[in-house]
Amino acid sequence: MSNVTIRKSAGSTGTRECLRTCIGCRQRGRQSDLMRVVAKGSAVIPDAGDRQAGRGGYLHYDQKCFDAAQQRQAFSRAFRLGSSVSVEAVAKAMQEQTDGSQSGDEMSSQ
Ligand SMILES: [Zn+2]
Repeated sequence: MSNVTIRKSAGSTGTRECLRTCIGCRQRGRQSDLMRVVAKGSAVIPDAGDRQAGRGGYLHYDQKCFDAAQQRQAFSRAFRLGSSVSVEAVAKAMQEQTDGSQSGDEMSSQ
């Protein structure tokens, strides 16, 4: 068998997928692994579908990252809001994403 498939993606840089930095743990991850959040008024809300214009941030679907972001006031920093920023909508979305997601975690095809 000499039919060898040549792979051009042998570089160490990996894929060219967009990497975003989580404002909670500061680790970079694929955009599909992160929740985009945007500022709306003095609140931070999850941006379903990347439709909201304006300043956005990214957060892993992980309660730990959300907690870390809150502790370091990453939301108010990322969105240049005051300390009274409301993140309840994000907290709720985070719970929905992390609650019982063991069986319903479907990967959406691109
Ligand atoms: Zn994170």
